[in-house]
Amino acid sequence: MLHAIASPHYWLTNCHIPTCLLDREFNVNASWEGIAAFDLEILDGKIHTVIPTNSAHRTSSHIEQIDLRQGMVLPCFIDMHTHLDKGHIWNRTPNLDGTFVNALQVVEVDRDRYWNSEDLYRRMEFGLKCSYAHGTKAIRTHLDCPFPQADISLDVFKALHQTWADRLTLQAVSLVTLDRFMGTEGKALADRIADLGAVLGGVAFLNPDIDIQLDRVFSLAKERQLDLDFHTDENDNPQSDTLLRVARAALRHEFTGRITCGHCCSLTVQDAIAVQETIALVKEAGIGIVSLPTCNLYLQDRKAGITPRWRGVTLMQELKAMGVEVAIAQDNCRDPFYSFGDGDLLQVFAMSVQIAHLDSPYGNWLQTITSTPARLMGLENTGKIGVGQPADLVICKARNFSELLSRPQSDRRIIRSGQLVDSTLPDYSELDDLIFREGV
Ligand SMILES: [Zn+2]
Repeated sequence: MLHAIASPHYWLTNCHIPTCLLDREFNVNASWEGIAAFDLEILDGKIHTVIPTNSAHRTSSHIEQIDLRQGMVLPCFIDMHTHLDKGHIWNRTPNLDGTFVNALQVVEVDRDRYWNSEDLYRRMEFGLKCSYAHGTKAIRTHLDCPFPQADISLDVFKALHQTWADRLTLQAVSLVTLDRFMGTEGKALADRIADLGAVLGGVAFLNPDIDIQLDRVFSLAKERQLDLDFHTDENDNPQSDTLLRVARAALRHEFTGRITCGHCCSLTVQDAIAVQETIALVKEAGIGIVSLPTCNLYLQDRKAGITPRWRGVTLMQELKAMGVEVAIAQDNCRDPFYSFGDGDLLQVFAMSVQIAHLDSPYGNWLQTITSTPARLMGLENTGKIGVGQPADLVICKARNFSELLSRPQSDRRIIRSGQLVDSTLPDYSELDDLIFREGV
């Protein structure tokens, strides 16, 4: 179908596009899955025209036509919650009992032993290569930021941000427990984050001082006009209500920046009244929720010798039904928190559909890996297909959702600024000298 594009001006015809991914409505008969056929005119790296296939309005037949034969076309993906700094260490630091507690412990050992600039740069770049090859165009990564690690990790991020600026939009978020913000260290970290133009964030563990810690983080963010991104309630404890506490803090501080909360697993084990109150306050505070279904499936409800009963994901359907913005992201990749993953948001979406029953109907759930995370990251007007948008597209042979989500779509083609990109995945052996060290 699509082998080479020589010209800056061509048509992609017979594209099957979920209408929820278009930036305007068309008067077309969509399939029951919400997919309709469109022709896209690409000119000088941008989408110049979007019209329904077989439209009488299409002209310029002398221009190259590439018939996609009803293959699905999606905007490039936006992965708004990753941990590039931890990525791909599984083989040197596995999590042998698969638990969250052990993951925390062994990552700390790995960090203290290995995370110098070279180790971080090469593993993080490996992660970027994977994501880029799978069709992602923007990534937010949390970075472990205890001092002195913060200095090393943030410098590496800065270098990668520059090197990859023409291919990926990168954002960083600090990751520390919230008690770290209380003293001068917290102020220093907030200043570093502000210098970098990054997002202030941390893990909101339930503890007696959690509200004071949240007040401090909100104050630091407000003073510097930073957005916020928290890990909240990544557990099955019904008492864990840090999402609610973040929402209350946001309202208390009349915070006007963007706020994202990730995980929010315990919401599913709380009673209906608590859930209702939390979702209502999350909505009122304008908090976006990012669910990390593959990582939750891996870590939650894990007990030795026991088959898990709980899927671990937050109340994606209920949150969305109440008007809360819900995104889906990769989270960890081949590290002690998740021993799988490749930065492939289409794979994450395929698993999420099955984990959280995001099908029948699919509705606009594809927005969870495209336009919704774009909005939550402040990348306005990104993640949709429309006139004037960059021609950044993922092109599949699959013609409908069943075909799309049943195969890994390894033969997808990626177009960036109208041109096919080399979407070869990096070879695992690139990292061998870092991962398979002598004596490790
Ligand atoms: Zn995370």
